[in-house]
Amino acid sequence: MTDILISGAGVAGPTLAYWLARNGFRPTVVERSQGLRSSGNPVDVRGPAFPVAEQMGILPALREHQTRAKAMRVLGIDGKPLARVPMGAQRAGSQEVELPRGELASVLYAAARDHAEFLFDETITGLHQDEGGVDVTFDRAGPRRFDLVIGADGLHSTTRRLVFGPEADFVRHMGVYVATLPLGEPAREPDEILMYNTPGRLLSIHPANGDALAAFIFRGPAIPGFDHRDMDQHKKIVLDAYAGIGWRVPELLDRVRTATDLYFDSVSQVRLPAWSTGRVALVGDAAACLSLFGEGSSLAMSAGYTLAATLAEAPHDVAFARYETEHRKLVEPKQRNVSRAAGLIVPKTRLGIGVRNLAARVGGTL
Ligand SMILES: Cc1cc2nc3c(=O)[nH]c(=O)nc-3n(C[C@H](O)[C@H](O)[C@H](O)COP(=O)(O)OP(=O)(O)OC[C@H]3O[C@@H](n4cnc5c(N)ncnc54)[C@H](O)[C@@H]3O)c2cc1C
Repeated sequence: MTDILISGAGVAGPTLAYWLARNGFRPTVVERSQGLRSSGNPVDVRGPAFPVAEQMGILPALREHQTRAKAMRVLGIDGKPLARVPMGAQRAGSQEVELPRGELASVLYAAARDHAEFLFDETITGLHQDEGGVDVTFDRAGPRRFDLVIGADGLHSTTRRLVFGPEADFVRHMGVYVATLPLGEPAREPDEILMYNTPGRLLSIHPANGDALAAFIFRGPAIPGFDHRDMDQHKKIVLDAYAGIGWRVPELLDRVRTATDLYFDSVSQVRLPAWSTGRVALVGDAAACLSLFGEGSSLAMSAGYTLAATLAEAPHDVAFARYETEHRKLVEPKQRNVSRAAGLIVPKTRLGIGVRNLAARVGGTL
């Protein structure tokens, strides 16, 4: 039987593990976190991911965790409502589900856990491949040999760094940063996402599915010395970026000051000339992160499905090439669209905000 190691139990990893097992492979998944966190930013299961979820039989579980957002409420500079734009996920018969990323990862893990070995609190530390397999060393477990290794370990992929080269060669800052903060209380508007913009800055409040989530999304060039793991640095960057802004910003900045669970990162894309080398391949954000403005979670699921299907049909070298050809067709147009999406969500100028708001008023309702 073919032994396949997957690094990362986010969205792509457990989807891939599920479909590899269904296709007769023996998957092992290592996940750096101690367990799966059941929180996080809302993501979507739609487009090519919807039939994958349907075939996995997980749609009822996904819908149980569906967020409550029915519309986006665009606010003016004075914080007063300007436009209400209905969202698709809540329509009857809708082929999309919006839910927190952590809940999506948990549902996918629940579907895969009886068909794969999962090792939490573990990470790959070294990889050496030869003609017959890949020797892998781990942080805690003893070394093991696998037939194939797949990096599903996200934007800051360790597998990519160990096999393809340093992150700086492949990760592009898109001129935007994002911070998210769970507010630990229900949203005041339980079924609307509030969007408050000033030039180059967005504060949104998402009702999620219980506890509201604040997101600070703002424009800025690459910050020298930026460390995606340094929360004190992140707090300072957010406090500086939103200083002097109105509406609920001062109150939420106070929450940022005392937060212990602030998420912060550069909004980035990943572009690699090839997604595999020898017996190692990449899926999801590790291979082709779109940034938060795309459909990264749906594409991560569909990538896992496609990779498992191609491996079931052909030897690994042919399968990796087919998977890449097929999946790039979905990813590359979406990567190109990201700047346009960013322009709508975080317009750079007052004029840009005005034009966006006018379009929202014409297309939506008040
Ligand atoms: C703020 C924000 C908002 C977003 N909004 C949306 C949205 O609205 N719609 C949408 O479709 N997408 C959205 N996305 C993108 C989406 O979350 C990602 O595209 C998706 O999660 C990618 O899945 P993945 O499995 O490739 O990576 P991830 O979900 O990042 O999973 C990677 C996993 O690998 C683990 N890992 C990392 N390093 C190691 C290691 N060394 N060893 C072992 N495990 C490791 C991590 O702990 C994690 O569990 C958003 C992202 C962000 C940050």
